[in-house]
Amino acid sequence: MKSLVLTRDGLQVADTPTPPLMPGYIRIEVRSVGISRTDLRIWKGEVAADLPLILGHEFAGVIHESSDPEYKVGTPVTTEVDISDGACWYCKNKKKHLCNSKKTLGITTDGAMAEFICIPSELVHKLPDQIDSVTGTFVEPLAIAIETYTRSTVNPEETVLVIGTGKAGLLMAQVFDAFGADVYLLGDNQWHLGVAKQIGLQNIVNRSGDWKNTILNSTSGVGPSIVVEATGTHGGLQTALDIVRGDGTIALTGRTEGPFDVDPRHLISREISIFGTIRGDYEMAIMMLQKGRIEVKRMVSKEFTLEQGAQAFEAATKPEVVKVNINI
Ligand SMILES: [Zn+2]
Repeated sequence: MKSLVLTRDGLQVADTPTPPLMPGYIRIEVRSVGISRTDLRIWKGEVAADLPLILGHEFAGVIHESSDPEYKVGTPVTTEVDISDGACWYCKNKKKHLCNSKKTLGITTDGAMAEFICIPSELVHKLPDQIDSVTGTFVEPLAIAIETYTRSTVNPEETVLVIGTGKAGLLMAQVFDAFGADVYLLGDNQWHLGVAKQIGLQNIVNRSGDWKNTILNSTSGVGPSIVVEATGTHGGLQTALDIVRGDGTIALTGRTEGPFDVDPRHLISREISIFGTIRGDYEMAIMMLQKGRIEVKRMVSKEFTLEQGAQAFEAATKPEVVKVNINI
């Protein structure tokens, strides 16, 4: 099959063996795959990975071969990204996303930037007709955004600040908004802020202005009770720590550039909680996309073919781009 393989010499389109269909697995013909922050970090050598490796974990396609009558050939699907061992304490206690020896698509095992991928059927989610393959590539990051909302235990009409206007930030802001929170989105990328406006987000705050007072003035001078840090940077976390209300919560998302310095005295004296999320609520993500509650198409800045893979990765580093998809 045709694949986009990351080698020590960079990305190369190659002919690699089509993955064999193991018992309990489903072979999927990949239709579209998004380039995520993690893919970019591996490509740049910032995240260690065993090369050669096929990148990509945000994808959608159709079932190509299956031995399970529940999963018919031609059905549109997307999948979860962590293949757990089913044997450790976490797997036996309904926390398989924390599995001690899980393999993650496109990071520790081959991913979806190829014509085909084989996935355990328990990780496969069917997509309804309303969700095309490009939209389907947003299910995984949206699922994590929804789980972040759930774990943040925010009450409707509470003020939430989302820091970062990339794909993760725009999804987080839309999810908290859809569930009734009063959302402020903070960023400094003019193109991304433009996309946020097109999506329909209301309180967009440009970091180049007096952003701190804007946010304090709208929260009785105390700051937002929840801050979602979606830039993955040390600066983003520092901003979150500065602005979050006493007894507030900071949610971290995505693969951060870390390790970060955090003064525990600051957390204790202001009773601040920090949490991260790696689990996703896939069924809710699919439902929200099906009902059109989350706008994702405007976030796709450019689309490429698999043969243009190296070009696609270059394009994904440009500041005007929110998300790049490779269509196969
Ligand atoms: Zn396990």
